[in-house]
Amino acid sequence: MSSSSLGIPSSPDRSDDAPGLACYLSASNEQAWEAVYQSVDAYTRGQVAAVVADSVSQLVDMFYSVLLADAEAGPRLSHEIVATRLHSGMTRWLKGLLCVRDQGDISALMSTQKKVGEVHARVHIPMHLVMAGARILKNEIAQRLRASDLDGMAASVATQYVCNLFDLAVEQMSRAFMRDISRGARNDEAYRLFALGQNISTERERQRAALLEWSQAVLIGLHYRAPGQALPRLAASEFGLWLQHKGGAMFESAPALQQITEAVARLDQDVLPRLMRDETPGQASSMPDHVRELQELVARIKHLLNGLFDMVAEIESGSDPLTNVLNRRFLPSVIGREISIARRQRSEFSVVLLDIDHFKAVNDEHGHAGGDQVLRQFAEVLHQSCRSSDFVFRYGGEEFLVVLVDAGREAALAAAEKLGAEIRRHLFTVAEAGPLHITASIGVATFDGHPDYAYLIDRADKALYRAKQAGRDRCETA
Ligand code: GH3
Ligand code: MG
Ligand code: MG
Repeated sequence: MSSSSLGIPSSPDRSDDAPGLACYLSASNEQAWEAVYQSVDAYTRGQVAAVVADSVSQLVDMFYSVLLADAEAGPRLSHEIVATRLHSGMTRWLKGLLCVRDQGDISALMSTQKKVGEVHARVHIPMHLVMAGARILKNEIAQRLRASDLDGMAASVATQYVCNLFDLAVEQMSRAFMRDISRGARNDEAYRLFALGQNISTERERQRAALLEWSQAVLIGLHYRAPGQALPRLAASEFGLWLQHKGGAMFESAPALQQITEAVARLDQDVLPRLMRDETPGQASSMPDHVRELQELVARIKHLLNGLFDMVAEIESGSDPLTNVLNRRFLPSVIGREISIARRQRSEFSVVLLDIDHFKAVNDEHGHAGGDQVLRQFAEVLHQSCRSSDFVFRYGGEEFLVVLVDAGREAALAAAEKLGAEIRRHLFTVAEAGPLHITASIGVATFDGHPDYAYLIDRADKALYRAKQAGRDRCETA
């Protein structure tokens, strides 16, 4: 094992400095890498570099022979790909990480790990295989260090240094990996959600109408609102809420969505303030220009929105076949997404769980088909009584769940009371029978920061149980 070729100083000059707290920093922080490089002296770094450089080809061979023989990893690789592509890439990676005598370009090293993580995410190499690979290499290098010119203590310090570098690299890779994997999963989920849960043509009309309603409210507000009263913001309108909470989920990866979001921001942050400024009496006004700009931006949003709906219009709908509302299997992705929005924007949202009272009696009296008709109408009442930004799910047989976006405790309770009243008032029709009155018991829970969506539903369920216990046809909050 020659070290002279690398020009390593012959006399050890070890530093006894401990790596310090910085080595506990995240791998995305350059200081963490610096601390690891600084945790050993140039002599030790040189010895590690020499050991790795001397045996890099064997190390990589050994690494791939273990992986190729592995039942899980093997089928993902072929000897040919290993020989032609992966072997040289891995050699470069190992040398880049370990064959360095000074800390070199840390940001380049970090971005390499990020890129490797992104590639792993794209080709679906699971993170646990990467960790297993790192373990193999760490052990092999540790053995070679023990057999090197380094004495026992120095070999152990060098091994720790190697392990720290591997750990940092894997940590940095897994950050990029997780980000890309979850982005991919979100996209898949968003498309499925859209494909399975929405009546595309109804939703398209509803959002076009909501957008038009907002622009009319602005134009009317320009003339008839009270002095000092602001014009309504598009982002806070029904369309704006739908765009953020549902459009965002449905069309996450589409560039047109970003363009719509930008147009909304421009309307709210630029055009509306100008409209409000320019209406001061007695001043030369460029209001007509601003109004034209508003109309152009609204037309642009409409056009982009049409394109988005067209793009997915062909995907077949597959919502709950009886009631046409969302299937409960999308609850984790919908509530998960609302939880991250609430955290990011410090906003609120709530969950409403409804269970039809004495539904068994409906079935008993009108048959299962009659019960089905009631369920369909019940879902329709919920759908009509919620904002289009809310999510209505069939939760179980005669149980429904509504996710109320952007609604804190009081707003959610008011909305739930309104739902209860609509149900009470509605005349349900069952073939061959007169109009039927139905009631529901309702439990409401507002997101309280707990990261597990099941906990939120459980709180709503407990509140629903109390509503049943207290005599049915009422709302209780968690
Ligand atoms: P409670 O007020 O305590 O909620 O009484 P309930 O009768 O509504 O509740 P229970 O859980 O005793 O009965 C629910 C009934 O709903 C029983 C089941 O047959 C019926 N059900 C569940 N799914 C469907 C469905 O898809 N169609 C029809 N027609 N009935 C259903
Ligand atoms: Mg029930
Ligand atoms: Mg019931």
